[in-house]
Amino acid sequence: IQTLEQEAWQVVDKLEAAGYEAYLVGGCVRDQQLQRPIYDYDITTSALPDEVIALFPHTVPTGIKHGTVKVIMEQGEYEVTTFRIDGEYIDGRRPASVHFVRSLVEDLARRDFTINAMAMSRHGRLHDPFDGLRDLEQRIICAVGDPVKRFEEDALRILRGIRFAAQLGFTLEERTHAAIVYEAQELGKIARERVREEWHKMLLTAPDVALDLLRQTETLRYVITRPPTFDLAVYDPWGYGIDPWQLAGTWAARAPVDLALRYAIVLRAIQLEEARIDKVMSDLKLSGALKSEIRRTLRVVQLGPPTEWRDRSWRQYFYQHGRDAVRRACLLYAILHDEGRLEAWEAEVEQRAAAQPLWSLQDLVVTGSDLIEAGLPEGPEIGRANQWLAQWVLDHPECNTREALLQKLSERIE
Ligand code: ATP
Ligand code: MG
Repeated sequence: IQTLEQEAWQVVDKLEAAGYEAYLVGGCVRDQQLQRPIYDYDITTSALPDEVIALFPHTVPTGIKHGTVKVIMEQGEYEVTTFRIDGEYIDGRRPASVHFVRSLVEDLARRDFTINAMAMSRHGRLHDPFDGLRDLEQRIICAVGDPVKRFEEDALRILRGIRFAAQLGFTLEERTHAAIVYEAQELGKIARERVREEWHKMLLTAPDVALDLLRQTETLRYVITRPPTFDLAVYDPWGYGIDPWQLAGTWAARAPVDLALRYAIVLRAIQLEEARIDKVMSDLKLSGALKSEIRRTLRVVQLGPPTEWRDRSWRQYFYQHGRDAVRRACLLYAILHDEGRLEAWEAEVEQRAAAQPLWSLQDLVVTGSDLIEAGLPEGPEIGRANQWLAQWVLDHPECNTREALLQKLSERIE
């Protein structure tokens, strides 16, 4: 079986054999130099989209307007993009037009940061007209060209820069840093979905460094709407004399890589009230599923320290809020209040979950027709009896058998 890398080169070979130029480009070249794991290989080529489509049996025109065709091979999928330069940016969001060009260097020049503007040709030759390799070695994030202009063209680059700095542990080059601060307000024009994607990558990689940078550069307000600021002399919600944003980042970074959990930690750390939390989540257009996982987790957290839960509360919380929310709430507790004893809490949750008699009404061992047979009238009475039996099982987990339940029911009917 071929590796993804070998297969990516196969795509390059095929383009070259047909007389076009083709290179691996962007993130995969950067991550290869850094010896970081690579998840997707992007290819840049002189071939036009139609020419790419004609060459490969299985393609999807994912972004024809921008020159991108997805080539589907046996092991993976590869984005193949025609050399292009972007036309005028009219609104600081998307180029009004793109022009295909025939030179690699022009294509590299439109890319955001020097470390992302390198290409690799067959036999490992690096094309690096903007000194990306030097910046990788010096561990700096530096815009290609004039940073102010580049952020005016597309302000999302501001957040990408901060994200790469956090993720790779690099520093922002001085002029790039200054331009981020100077152009921050342009982030207001960016689609919230794009902002959200960068913010989630920050949360999942290095939220501590990312939050520091977002605050330092005054860009945080474009991620979290109306973020609270803390004057610790007046308001120190945790009483640690440490800014809650800093606590939020540090705590989130200690948590397993789980988006809902890290969100809950941040929102808890900065002590937003429920209505504000809803606003922040809707504003970022979080999916319904993610919102509800975050809300559930915070709801369980509100129930008090798990160290004080009784056996009965554990069963109730599992039943009412679900296993994931309870698990996340316990991990949050471990990080915020129990010296980070994550493994111990993971184990506790696992053990409790293994003993859980009932997760939902569907798990009751008696069915509606059993109840009717036992003499209950059809209709709402059945639902009520089910609820009642579920509560009874949660209180008496050893009695979750058909016999015991029908027995209990007949006692109740009498
Ligand atoms: P990762 O996938 O690890 O987040 P990446 O560098 O591969 O990082 P992608 O978003 O996959 O990032 O983009 C691929 C390449 O396209 C980048 O390396 C960069 O060269 C270019 N690029 C992406 N977004 C922009 C942008 N907003 N402005 C300029 N160039 C961009
Ligand atoms: Mg990528």
